[in-house]
Amino acid sequence: MDRCLAADTIKNIDTEVTLLGWVDTIRSHGKIAFIDLRDRSGLVQCVDTSGKISAGNEDVIKITGLVKKRPEKMINLKIPSGTVEVSIKSFEILTKSKELPFAIDCDGYDINEEIRMKYRYLDIRRLRITRNLKIRSQVTTFIRNFLTKRDFAEIETPMLTKTTPEGARDFIVPSRLQKGKFYALPQSPQQYKQLLMVAGIERYFQIVRCFRDEDPRADRAYGEFTQLDLEMSFVNQEDIMRLTEEMFTKLVAEIFPEKHILISPWPRLSHKEVMEKYKTDKPDLRKNKTDKNELAFSWTIDFPLFTEQSKEDFYHGSGKAKFAPSHHMFAAPHPDDIPLLSSDPMKVRGLQHDLVLNGYEVGGGSMRIHEKELQEKIFDLIGFTDKQKMQFEHILTAFTFGVPPHGGIAPGIDRFLMAALGEPSVREVMAFPTSSSGQTAVMDAPSNVTEEQLKELEIKIVSAK
Ligand code: ASP
Repeated sequence: MDRCLAADTIKNIDTEVTLLGWVDTIRSHGKIAFIDLRDRSGLVQCVDTSGKISAGNEDVIKITGLVKKRPEKMINLKIPSGTVEVSIKSFEILTKSKELPFAIDCDGYDINEEIRMKYRYLDIRRLRITRNLKIRSQVTTFIRNFLTKRDFAEIETPMLTKTTPEGARDFIVPSRLQKGKFYALPQSPQQYKQLLMVAGIERYFQIVRCFRDEDPRADRAYGEFTQLDLEMSFVNQEDIMRLTEEMFTKLVAEIFPEKHILISPWPRLSHKEVMEKYKTDKPDLRKNKTDKNELAFSWTIDFPLFTEQSKEDFYHGSGKAKFAPSHHMFAAPHPDDIPLLSSDPMKVRGLQHDLVLNGYEVGGGSMRIHEKELQEKIFDLIGFTDKQKMQFEHILTAFTFGVPPHGGIAPGIDRFLMAALGEPSVREVMAFPTSSSGQTAVMDAPSNVTEEQLKELEIKIVSAK
C-alpha cells in the first residue's frame, strides 16, 4: 500500500498522499475541522473544509489529501510535521473507537495502575510508554550489534529447566510426560552459560528472560525480568568490567545523547569502603540528583564471598552451615584467600563485581570457580546435603572435562532503562508487566485450570482452607 507516514509529509509538499492512523484530536470550528492524525511516526494536522466529517478520538482513519506548506504564523514547532498540513480530499473511518477508560495525552503517572495494566494496550499509546518501548528496542539492538562485532555468539538456553539457584524461589512447571516431576523456570542461565564455556564457545551472550518468585518492589517487577546475560573464557575481572564499561559508555552516547556520564572511568569501590562511606553497596554518586541527564555509574568490588546464612536461605541444607554466598555459589574466591576457606571463611573475598547506576544495582557478575574440588568445597561450606549436591552433579562432571577459566556479568535491561530514563518503576519500561500483586497485564493470570488439565498431570489441589 502506498502509504505516507505523518512524519514524512514534510518531504511530500504539494503532493497527494494517503495517511493511515488514529484520530488523536479533532477540533471543529464551524465549517472547518482540524484532525490530528497519529501514527507510529507522530502527528500531522489534517484540515477539512467540507463540513461533512465527523469522527471520534481514537477512531482508525484513512485520509487522502494534499500536503501544503503552512503559512509562517501557523507553524507548530512542537511536532516534526509542524511546517505542513494536509488538505483532506477523502476521508474514511476504518474502525470506530469507544471512549477510552483513561486519558492518554498525559504522562499517566497519576492514573490508577490497575486500570492502566488492564488496558495496557491503550496505555502503551501514551507517548511516554511508546517512547520507552522504542528506546528499549534501540538499547537491545545496540547491545546485540556491539557484542556480535566483538565475536560474541547469541545463544538461547532452555526455559524449561531445573532449579537454578540465584537465591530466590523457583517457579515450577509440572511435567505431563513424567508424572509427579517438575521443571523449574530459570532464575538465570547461570549454569548453562558456564556449560557453554566448557563447550568452547568462549564468548556468549543472551538477552534473556529470568524468573524469580520474590516479592515485588519498584525496581523489581514480580515474576520475570530481562537481563543481558554474558560470559567469557580466558579473561579476568578487569576484562569483564572494561568491556561492560565500554559498551554502556558507547550506548549512552548513541542512544541517550542528551545524558552525560558523571565520572569516567567509572569509580571502583570496595565493598568495605562503600559500606563504611555510604552504608549501602549501591551508592548513588550523582552530584545533582534532580538532573535527569546525570548518570553516575560505579563498580562495587571485593565483596566478601559469604554472608551469614539466615533460616530462610535457599542454601540452608543440613541446617548446620553458617555461610551463604553473597552472589551465588559459582562465584570464585580471591586466589590469595583460598587458604582462609578452611580457617576463616567469612574473611574470604569473592571475585564479584556489581554494576551500580544512580543508586540502583543494575547488574552483577563474577569470575567463576572452574575447579571441581573447589566447587565441592563451597557446596560443603554452604551446608549442602549429598542430595542437594546431586542436583549440581552435571556441573561437577563438566568440570572434569577441561574447563577454561571464565567469568561474566548480567546487567538488567529493565533496571538499566528505569535508571537511565529516570522512571519510578521498572513497569514503565516493560510492555506487559505483572502488577505488584502478581496479576498479569491485560490477561487474567494466574488463573484456574480445568479439572481435565489437573487430572492429566495427576495433580490435586488441596485447598488451603
Ligand atoms: N547469574 C547472575 C545473576 O543472574 C549473573 C552472573 O553472575 O553473571 O544475577
